[in-house]
Amino acid sequence: MPDDDEDVIDAEVVDGSLKRCPECESYDVVRGKSAALLLVIVLSVYGAGLAVDQLPLAFLVIVVTLVIYYVLPAFQCRDCGSRFD
Ligand SMILES: [Zn+2]
Repeated sequence: MPDDDEDVIDAEVVDGSLKRCPECESYDVVRGKSAALLLVIVLSVYGAGLAVDQLPLAFLVIVVTLVIYYVLPAFQCRDCGSRFD
């Protein structure tokens, strides 16, 4: 059944990492978010809060950081700088 095989290949291309910029239709797109970086920031702020005895302030900064991380679209176009999901 050659037709079925072609369908499977097409589906894989569509579901792949070929993201496309909605603004300029470029394929030159990078993931702008890093969970590891977020973890480092959160731990650093927590450590700084402990060091200066300002844990409530540290938690506030962490919450704001998490909200910004959540709101920020995951992908950024390297051609026009547009961010999108
Ligand atoms: Zn673009």
